[in-house]
Amino acid sequence: MSDSIDLAELRASIRDVLVQEADSVRVHAHVDRLAGAMAGGRVTADCFHDRALAATVASLGWAGLGVTEADGGLGLGMEALAVLHEELGRCVAPIPLLSTYLVADVLGQAPHVVRDRWLPALLSGEIFAAYAPATRLAGDRLTGQVTHVLDGASAGVFLLGLKGGRLALVARDAPGLTVTPVPAVDHTRGMAHLALQDVAVDLLPVPAAVADRHAALALACDSLGGAQAVLEKTIEYLKVRTQFDQPLGRFQALKHRVADHKLRLEVARSLVAEALAAEEGDWALGLAQLARAGANAAYVAIADDAVQLHGGIGFTWELDIHLYLKRARLNRALFGGDDSAMDLAAAALVTVPPAPAVAPVAGAPRPLDHVSNEEAFRAAVRAWLSAVVPADWKGRLLGAPEEDYVAFQRRWFDELKKVGLATPHWPKSWGGEDLPLTHAVILNEELARADAPRPDMFTVSLFHLPATLFAYGTPVQQERYLTGVRDRGEVWCQGFSEPGAGSDLASLRTRAEKRTREDGRVVYVVNGQKVWSSYAANARYCLLLARTDPQAPKKQAGISYFIMDMDAPGVTCRPIRQMNGGAEFCELFLDDVEIPAENLIGAEGEGWRIAQATLSAERGLIIVDLVERLRFAMEGLLSAAGTGAVGWWSDSAHRRAFMGHYGRMLAVRRTIRDMMAEVAADPHMGASPLPTYVKLLYSELLHEHTAFLLDRGGPAVQVARPRLTGDGNQAVGPYEAYLWSYAWTIAGGANEVLKNIVAERVLGLPR
Ligand SMILES: Cc1cc2nc3c(=O)[nH]c(=O)nc-3n(C[C@H](O)[C@H](O)[C@H](O)COP(=O)(O)OP(=O)(O)OC[C@H]3O[C@@H](n4cnc5c(N)ncnc54)[C@H](O)[C@@H]3O)c2cc1C
Repeated sequence: MSDSIDLAELRASIRDVLVQEADSVRVHAHVDRLAGAMAGGRVTADCFHDRALAATVASLGWAGLGVTEADGGLGLGMEALAVLHEELGRCVAPIPLLSTYLVADVLGQAPHVVRDRWLPALLSGEIFAAYAPATRLAGDRLTGQVTHVLDGASAGVFLLGLKGGRLALVARDAPGLTVTPVPAVDHTRGMAHLALQDVAVDLLPVPAAVADRHAALALACDSLGGAQAVLEKTIEYLKVRTQFDQPLGRFQALKHRVADHKLRLEVARSLVAEALAAEEGDWALGLAQLARAGANAAYVAIADDAVQLHGGIGFTWELDIHLYLKRARLNRALFGGDDSAMDLAAAALVTVPPAPAVAPVAGAPRPLDHVSNEEAFRAAVRAWLSAVVPADWKGRLLGAPEEDYVAFQRRWFDELKKVGLATPHWPKSWGGEDLPLTHAVILNEELARADAPRPDMFTVSLFHLPATLFAYGTPVQQERYLTGVRDRGEVWCQGFSEPGAGSDLASLRTRAEKRTREDGRVVYVVNGQKVWSSYAANARYCLLLARTDPQAPKKQAGISYFIMDMDAPGVTCRPIRQMNGGAEFCELFLDDVEIPAENLIGAEGEGWRIAQATLSAERGLIIVDLVERLRFAMEGLLSAAGTGAVGWWSDSAHRRAFMGHYGRMLAVRRTIRDMMAEVAADPHMGASPLPTYVKLLYSELLHEHTAFLLDRGGPAVQVARPRLTGDGNQAVGPYEAYLWSYAWTIAGGANEVLKNIVAERVLGLPR
């Protein structure tokens, strides 16, 4: 249904109303009224919400957003409700709609007699509802206590989750039910304790899981909206508050904190989107719980730090910040709390392997002959992989000499090339396949599922080079060098970093001087040193940055971008031994190396700008299949946990930490898909922050997760083993993967520097 409405328009129209009806002044007025009533001992059921706001909301029909048109609602579905909850959270709206919408949704599936009794009253705003999940009550006549029911203070009807996963509905005035309003520290909401003495209830034929999923998503959206708003307020404050003669936002310690908050929020947003998109069932419930825990954790972290970042004024009643902090804290405590969310997610997800099944296909079909149908494409990729992935290829490379690895990489590249899968992401005009996004996702999933080799030695050839030449290369350069990769498997390396220029790349000193040789040819003569250049020892060409104008007013302006032949006289390459035992990266000594003038990419002095295109590829697209590999490793562990084969799974702290990592992985995966959609729409991606998010989120997750596995592995994982020759991206054990994770946190722009970029270019803090 939500396909038929524009969610952005809906959001704008809801926000327009709330800016008027639930602005900071109105919310504070409500909070003060409630505080006054509490101080005077005059708390009544209608103290707990803003009545004028409730009347406006009722007149706009918002309660019926998710209810079908046949039942008198607007029939816009959960995605529309999610927008509404987010906007209500954004302004910490003092109105008990979270439970009301949830109960309205559940009533849509209830028998007519129950639905007709309650739904019109809920939709008209005559009454509110409250939901108490997972009570210990059972049967159709209930006796017992239910405490701290969210929105219970204002509710006219209660939905109770019973033992055995059933739901029951009971009116506030039902004989035997006593409702005691309980003010919360979060004055924007209220709670209630319920005492039931042989109370008759209506049992609903709707599983409690339906209400639990709705509750988790609604709460997650409330948290998302609140977290976004309190982060925006904090960033604004850091821009205008001056201390030590500069805006607070110029201090890097603070920049990194808000950049981390922004990333947390991105993870939470992606997880909510993932959970909203899931079909009903265990998988959907598990994702909703992960989304709830992720969004609540982000909200608490951001609101908590917002107080500190505002200093003394953050400690005041007048400022809004404490309202967000208190709402965040209550959100986190609700419905069993975040620990319960993680446990529910773990229970739901261990039993649900989400692998899409396909009909087996004989032989090794060419996958690209099957692009017309996604399922057939997946089946063909799977069949092709099972025919061509060499058996025990990792076992054979363990401890093997470097030449074996190089030969193996070349064979695998040729295998991919044979079926058009070496350059599927390239445009057709360059011999690629223009593979649609959906198929690229399937291909990467299947490569990961098969644990197929990665053509790592060709990373710069397949990603950095095209990202650079498609946009800035001359037709001659494109023809010569892209076909060299596509047809001859030429290996490229990247010569950016120098001993004195790493994060501060613009300080590079390698010099390129333009000269006319005696034979009349114009060349650039290059002198200098490059370092950490991956696979340079195997490379035929190098993407080189060098300074052509040392006098340029800005150091960035004096840099130019070249294609350097690695066989040219004056190039000396020495591999450097890495901490994982390998020696993929190298140092390059450049002594009077002549580069023909036609190998300049773009114009002189444009190197810095062009390098951003190269780095964007490095930060985003090359991570695509690695996340799928991480996903399969994690889901393998989840399945093993489901069969009791993972010793530490019974420790709740470890289990919840793992589920947190799993949720972050799903969020990175979603961000990657968003990024791929952006690339499909605009290959140059303009100023999109998504590649930077992907690099930061993936590298930090990989590092934390592999460290976690190392800690769980005990001394057994400390035993030295032969190294997998080649790249640690295909590590065989957690220790190798852990060591290699530093490559992702350091290379391609160290994470600290990328956080400066997020703070300055995305969040607008001063440089
Ligand atoms: C496995 C691997 C492969 C690589 N491959 C290549 C390659 O193929 N080609 C290539 O050109 N380079 C490559 N690199 C180099 C990589 O790009 C650099 O290591 C990286 O840019 C960081 O530079 P640096 O090593 O000089 O560290 P430094 O810049 O000295 O940084 C050291 C630490 O200080 C922090 N820091 C620096 N400046 C700031 C700041 N302004 N604010 C806050 N913190 C700061 C950094 O984040 C880092 O934690 C590779 C590196 C690795 C580890």
